[in-house]
Amino acid sequence: MPLDPLTMLTLSVALAAAAALYLAIEWRSIREPSLLFWSAGFATISVGSTLALLRSSGFLLIGIWFANGLLVTAHFLFLLGVARFTQTRLSRGWWLIFLAWLAMLVLPDGPIWSKVMLLANSLLVALSTLRASFLLRPHGKSLSVGAGQLRYVLLAHGVFYLAKALTAVIPGTLIDLAALRGEIIQISLVEGAMAIMLIALSMTGTERYRREKQIARLAARDPLTALYNRRALEVRAPRLFEDVCATRPGALLLIDIDNFKPVNDLHGHTAGDRLLVALSEMIRAHLPEAALAARLGGDEFVILLKHASTERVTRLGNALREQFQQTAAYTFTTPEPVTLSIGATLFDQPPASLAALIEQGDAALYASKRGGRDRIRLIDRTLAGGESMPDRVQR
Ligand code: GH3
Ligand code: MG
Repeated sequence: MPLDPLTMLTLSVALAAAAALYLAIEWRSIREPSLLFWSAGFATISVGSTLALLRSSGFLLIGIWFANGLLVTAHFLFLLGVARFTQTRLSRGWWLIFLAWLAMLVLPDGPIWSKVMLLANSLLVALSTLRASFLLRPHGKSLSVGAGQLRYVLLAHGVFYLAKALTAVIPGTLIDLAALRGEIIQISLVEGAMAIMLIALSMTGTERYRREKQIARLAARDPLTALYNRRALEVRAPRLFEDVCATRPGALLLIDIDNFKPVNDLHGHTAGDRLLVALSEMIRAHLPEAALAARLGGDEFVILLKHASTERVTRLGNALREQFQQTAAYTFTTPEPVTLSIGATLFDQPPASLAALIEQGDAALYASKRGGRDRIRLIDRTLAGGESMPDRVQR
């Protein structure tokens, strides 16, 4: 059953007001400014629809182009929201849209001017919408699922308005819009509100998803080095342990900086931080595929390896030790050399827990410190290594 124009307009007002309210409430919890732009866009549509409704009912003799101008404003607000969302700067030229709208307000009545206004109005809406769609094109990093959907909704919306602009320039379709008493705007508003409602739902979903991912990522990372923190390692380690067997042993390397405190005391905390970051970058650069690395806290780091062997562990540990020692010696003068002590353990059965494995690594690290620092101490707990065999010291 086709709806009469008044019902359609009333629906438009309700839909757009609901969307504006929903986005404003979402903004309160997410605090993403783009949501405010979209909320303002919907509020503008709601006001425009109300004006058109009053006009259709004969209560308000406001020019139809004022309401149509609000439609242009609403689409411009949506564009501002997308620009904010994609962190793009819009050129100042876009503000000329309002000048164009103001110019339309002073145009005289008459069929020719109606045609000009319809053309200008549709082109302005199409321009904002297509630009917003273009901003959401995939470039480098993906903007997630909702943004992809939004891109096509905006594209379809922009093409619709382009087609509408064409009707104004194709001969024989001269329309006196003023004579239609707002019907064109009713259809535009309902169509716009529906399409953009879709956008709002899609975008807030996208934004929530993006925020949740960001929060999860931040919660898993050590803020200084961006390596995993202990909790994130605890979550990821069991999958690595599952793969461990006699033919594919695993290994843990516990790394602690020697004489790190004097770096802080003599050169400042910031210099100490820089050294921690430098070590984390070395670890990242040497990290084999499918291995995990984390900062446990302070100057203590851990590496978990799959498919490990005594040789691989020693090679990795010594590479880190040598590179770190050179960097530290080149960067700072300290009474005692700033080096790395490493305690490693090789295992061929999944450990009871990460904590139990770290405890074993701690014992090896302690032995390494006691042995004079700047060295790696490996405890081979595999059957092939023989648990009763004495620990092998690699330096
Ligand atoms: P050792 O040779 O026995 O390892 O002693 P150390 O001087 O390296 O000191 P230790 O490992 O016992 O303690 C680590 C120090 O690291 C303690 C603290 O001052 C410093 N530290 C902990 N977290 C940070 C940080 O985030 N930034 C900086 N700059 N220093 C930190
Ligand atoms: Mg230390």
